[in-house]
Amino acid sequence: MAELKHFYETFQPKHYDVYIDIDREKKLISGKTTITGAAQAQEISVHQKYLKVSAVQAGNQDVPFTTDDQADAIRITLPAAGDVTVAITYTAPLTDTMMGIYPSYYQLNGEKKQLIGTQFETNAARKAFPCVDEPEAKATFDLAIKFDEHPGETIISNMPEKSEKDGVHYFATTVRMSTYLIAFAFGEMQSKLTKTKSGVEIGVFATKAHQANELDFALDIAKRAIEFYEDFYQTPYPLPHSYQLALPDFSAGAMENWGLVTYREALLLLDPDNTALDTKQLVATVITHELAHQWFGDLVTMKWWDDLWLNESFANMMEYVSVDALQPDWHIWETFQTSEAPAALQRDATDGVQSVHVDVEDPAEIDSLFDGAIVYAKGARLLVMVRALIGDDALRAGLKNYFAAHQYGNATGADLWSALGAASGLDIGAIMHSWLDQPGYPVVTAAVKDGQLTLSQKQFFIGEGQDVGRQWQIPLNSNYDAAPAIMKEKEVTVGDYAKLRAAGQPFRVNVGNNSHFIVKYDDTLMQDILTHTDELDDIAKLQLLQDLRLLADGRQISYATLVPLLPRFADSHAAVVNTALYRVASNLKRFVTPDSPEENQLKAFYNQLSADQLARLGWTPKAHESNDDQLTRPFILSAALYGKNGAAIAAAHDLFKANADKLASLPADIRFYVLANEVHDFGSADLVDELVAAYRETTDGSYKGDLRAAVTQTPDKALLAKLIGLFKDPDTVKPQDLRSWFYGILANHHGEQAAWDWLRNNWQWLEEKVGGDMEFTTYITVVANVFRTRERLNEFKAFFEPKLNTPGLTREIQMDTKVIASRVDLIEAEKDAVNAAVAKEIQ
Ligand SMILES: [Zn+2]
Repeated sequence: MAELKHFYETFQPKHYDVYIDIDREKKLISGKTTITGAAQAQEISVHQKYLKVSAVQAGNQDVPFTTDDQADAIRITLPAAGDVTVAITYTAPLTDTMMGIYPSYYQLNGEKKQLIGTQFETNAARKAFPCVDEPEAKATFDLAIKFDEHPGETIISNMPEKSEKDGVHYFATTVRMSTYLIAFAFGEMQSKLTKTKSGVEIGVFATKAHQANELDFALDIAKRAIEFYEDFYQTPYPLPHSYQLALPDFSAGAMENWGLVTYREALLLLDPDNTALDTKQLVATVITHELAHQWFGDLVTMKWWDDLWLNESFANMMEYVSVDALQPDWHIWETFQTSEAPAALQRDATDGVQSVHVDVEDPAEIDSLFDGAIVYAKGARLLVMVRALIGDDALRAGLKNYFAAHQYGNATGADLWSALGAASGLDIGAIMHSWLDQPGYPVVTAAVKDGQLTLSQKQFFIGEGQDVGRQWQIPLNSNYDAAPAIMKEKEVTVGDYAKLRAAGQPFRVNVGNNSHFIVKYDDTLMQDILTHTDELDDIAKLQLLQDLRLLADGRQISYATLVPLLPRFADSHAAVVNTALYRVASNLKRFVTPDSPEENQLKAFYNQLSADQLARLGWTPKAHESNDDQLTRPFILSAALYGKNGAAIAAAHDLFKANADKLASLPADIRFYVLANEVHDFGSADLVDELVAAYRETTDGSYKGDLRAAVTQTPDKALLAKLIGLFKDPDTVKPQDLRSWFYGILANHHGEQAAWDWLRNNWQWLEEKVGGDMEFTTYITVVANVFRTRERLNEFKAFFEPKLNTPGLTREIQMDTKVIASRVDLIEAEKDAVNAAVAKEIQ
């Protein structure tokens, strides 16, 4: 592979004057960018992508240049090296790719409108204007933007608008920042504004298609989050404003542009009167994630993309730290335990997974680094581990020094470790090295051998894995003081088991489930834990179910042994326990063929598991009920409906009939289950049409999500084919939402074949539509989440193996092949035993 050189090495920009004129009608961008900087050589390179460059001047003189599309470059020959001002005149197309400068489409009172916005991370600033598009190439920017403006339109950017002259909007000079964080947007917008205690202006912006009160929740969270971070980081927010903007078309979840954060509408706006608690929690964590980046990522930026984890892992931890402070009654760390922890543990167990820190050069590979389960979830778990080791005082002191030392500049992981190390007196770098630079994680086996309690570590795999002898420095968090705080060795002896046990409780490690490993207890130790489950707290129960499930996925124990455990925990009132329990239960569905006698048996088991809780919780949320009850009810309703509980089905049908003319007003917590039940058991073509029409119309993101998920549940193949026919109709299925639609139909066994055929027949179209985007590979992941037969495995291989050399897809194809293969092997080997175990449980 040719060595890729960073353009920053030969040319260091100091300041940009960026003039951009955008013509929406002609779909044309024309601009002139003037860059002042230091050239280390006569030949310099500046990034561009799809730009048509007409002239390059240095010191007001035309100079020779060539464009190199292969390298995204303009190669410029300067009269001499040294300080220079380069002016580049160009045009570019305005395209619908959700990257660079792009239009978002929406309807207002039946009229089609657009809002122009930007998305530059990781390397799309170069599609908007020529620049050294590397995170290290920080500079100041003067933005001047003109567009085919109509009365009533607004424009916003990273900094406040300074003046307007002849239709050109001039923005205040930015602080020193990276190109990928530049942003602007214009069109007809509504906004709500407030100020923090320290005087930062907080704003939420959206199209006028939304109700004004949909902006309130975000405004409150954003204001309090900025105040929280100013205090926690002990570093002032560095810009005059922090604007949050909901874009109708947005590929990722949100983007931390400095001072102008952009979001999917569904991840910023919500109906304050009818939104489920978990949706509110999600929106709050997305906002606090992006605002954590305003310091960690924006003020101090990774030097190069190999340290992307620095940004993302940290923001992913801080979103929970801050929401926990803003809404302590939510117990948001429980959500960390039910979402981030299992996501990281599942994916990180497949051989071939990336490490958190990855060497990377090729721009096509950079986008594929955004592995949510690794760079976000695992990375956050590792930082939670660090936080637990050093404590909040040292964390805050270390961060304060880190920001002070690197503000408006760049840093690496080593810089963070040295700041946290200095504050805590611990060699954090040495401990973290084994976690960040190695893929995977260990299973710690706890066993009593010859009377001695021993612990050993070994890499844990789900599916085929090559053991290369990796070892980790494991914070054990045992409830026995005799166990070491950090286990560095392959094997350790804790001591005489009988004596240790006599003095305490059943032996456990990873108490709190905050270290990134799982535990396999031998029979003696496991039986001891199981006979004392009453003494376990809820996180410990979750952990027990989680670790056993993973061990079963990894074929270290049989799934059949998990079945009798489920009824023991089924009456728990804790949402964390129910989440873990129904995840195991959901995996049992893989062992049955749809509509078979075995599936009927499993349904009866589901009905049995959920019956008491259904009686306790009922369908309708009660006023002032606990968060746990609110979060548990969906699992119970889902289980009861799958379990063909007659009373539950009738109750859902009654709720539907009673609210048929106002479905949106059904309580958001249960709305999906009412709609899905109706579509599945009482559905018709008219009903599906009606729900699709409501989907097209509503601007409430969570209602939209409920409608989408519900209609894809229809068992009617003709209706499913009709829905697939909407995939390329952006007025109904926006490209940003296509994957969810596709997944819904693929996961419905009546639609699996049709959805899979659609993907294979339209792969090229899809690649043009969303390829070159960090979301693209997740279409492959989605398929791998569903397939469970050898026939599908072979089809998957036949289709994707020829694409193995596509940049950015290689790892995903290899991993997902293993994911499906290991599932198929597991099902073939254990199907009979699992179904027999289920049969035994049915009363
Ligand atoms: Zn982020």
